[in-house]
Amino acid sequence: MRPTSAHLAARHACVRQTLDMLTLDALVLTCAANIRYLSNHAGSSGLLVLTEDAVHLLVDFRYREAVQMLQQSASACPGLVLRDVPASYDEALLDCLRDIGVSTVGFEAAHVSVARHDWWQRTSEARSLNVAWRATEKVVEQARLVKDAPEVETLRDAASRLAPVADASFRAARAGRTERGVAAAIEAAMRDAGYERQAFDTIVASGPHAALPHHRAGDRILAAGDLVVLDFGGVLDGYCCDLTRTVSIGPPSSEARRLYTAVYDAQQAAIAAIRPGVESTAVDAAARSLLTARGLGDAFGHGTGHGLGLDVHEEPRITRPRPDVPSVPLVPGMVFTVEPGAYLAGFGGVRIEDDVLVTETGCEVLTSVPRELLAL
Ligand code: ZN
Ligand code: ZN
Repeated sequence: MRPTSAHLAARHACVRQTLDMLTLDALVLTCAANIRYLSNHAGSSGLLVLTEDAVHLLVDFRYREAVQMLQQSASACPGLVLRDVPASYDEALLDCLRDIGVSTVGFEAAHVSVARHDWWQRTSEARSLNVAWRATEKVVEQARLVKDAPEVETLRDAASRLAPVADASFRAARAGRTERGVAAAIEAAMRDAGYERQAFDTIVASGPHAALPHHRAGDRILAAGDLVVLDFGGVLDGYCCDLTRTVSIGPPSSEARRLYTAVYDAQQAAIAAIRPGVESTAVDAAARSLLTARGLGDAFGHGTGHGLGLDVHEEPRITRPRPDVPSVPLVPGMVFTVEPGAYLAGFGGVRIEDDVLVTETGCEVLTSVPRELLAL
């Protein structure tokens, strides 16, 4: 479901509150996902200037028609002022700021290069534009942290379509196939399931490669006794889903079973910990303490999960307490992955990943794929 004008208006109101708090006259958005979130414009180019009473969308010739059609629909962006970009986006931005006469302008520090910022600053000064540029962080990302109704609907749909893709991956992961061949089968199944593209490079990590959490897919041939980590996700109407299953080629060894059971139990513990008000770090701790109790604390070297939405890795981060990642209390409407793993160099590894939505009472698991260890 595409967000309607009313959904966009609510998003604008939320971001404008932050603008008020930061005493900004305008916020310049350069991040494509944030622009889409506030305008429904899904093009790969565009700039958006949000002010107290308008949404100035700067696009070039390639997108003008699409934006005009969007504005005729129920998903029209309220307050939209469409501005042509005849040549340079940066020139058009300065012209826009001059027209609307704003003086304190925020920009997205994480999405503007130093070179671009320098040019804005230098050129606005040279043209006697009275603009004070202020770096901001995560203003729109903060709003995106809790999903609204159309986002939840799309994420639910995206996650549910992973079931047939997982089935295809289980049919493909057989002794004698290469990792790349299995990845190709997964990617074909994702296209059949209706995803517009992959959310990230498919991971097929077999045997010792399974000990490398972000190994992609190479020439290795799957062999009896391997654990194989299959990690894939698609994008549906802009929204990402993400699933991992680990399978055994032939009967698993007792060490493989031990590893699998520990990760399975860690994932169950993390999912059981999810409910409103619980800190994101507490969900990580639930998985981590279980793996630590099984002697696998050091084998779990990444976070327990990440937010899903217009980006495949977004807020909230479900991690250990980290100075750069503040813990957040969970709120209904947050969507994130729960993906503990255990990796033993030279032996292999296990990761199990599902996507969850925080509800009023706990969570809803959006992915529906069996979690038991499959011997293929
Ligand atoms: Zn994944
Ligand atoms: Zn993930």
